[in-house]
Amino acid sequence: MKYKSLPEMKSKLQDIRSRLLGGIEKTLKTSQDEEFTQLVPDTTDDASRSFSRQMLLNLGEQDRERLIQVEEALYQMENGGYGMCKLCEKSIPEARLKVVPFAQYCVSCLNEIEQDQKNNGHNGSDQFEAF
Ligand SMILES: [Zn+2]
Repeated sequence: MKYKSLPEMKSKLQDIRSRLLGGIEKTLKTSQDEEFTQLVPDTTDDASRSFSRQMLLNLGEQDRERLIQVEEALYQMENGGYGMCKLCEKSIPEARLKVVPFAQYCVSCLNEIEQDQKNNGHNGSDQFEAF
């Protein structure tokens, strides 16, 4: 399916990608700077620093997943298959892609997946862990 606002979606994806990559670079830089900042004791700053670092670590995994989705969407834009739901293979509505250009599922499939995770996910794995 051809989307009218494909260029808009593409630039949005590229924007997200560069922001994610920029964030990773910043994370690497701050972790390198850590050795230097240790030479200058600053207790109040230390507490906030470790807090924001924890947040970056938490964000890290989500960002990595997001980056993979963005890369895949950009690849599909070039090679075809962009905007196709991975589950039902229907075209994802343009309105949804404008909001979430890296969407991989249509709304109804996404709801089903989320329902599945709620119903099976926790109870199932908890039972396995008990044994
Ligand atoms: Zn679907």
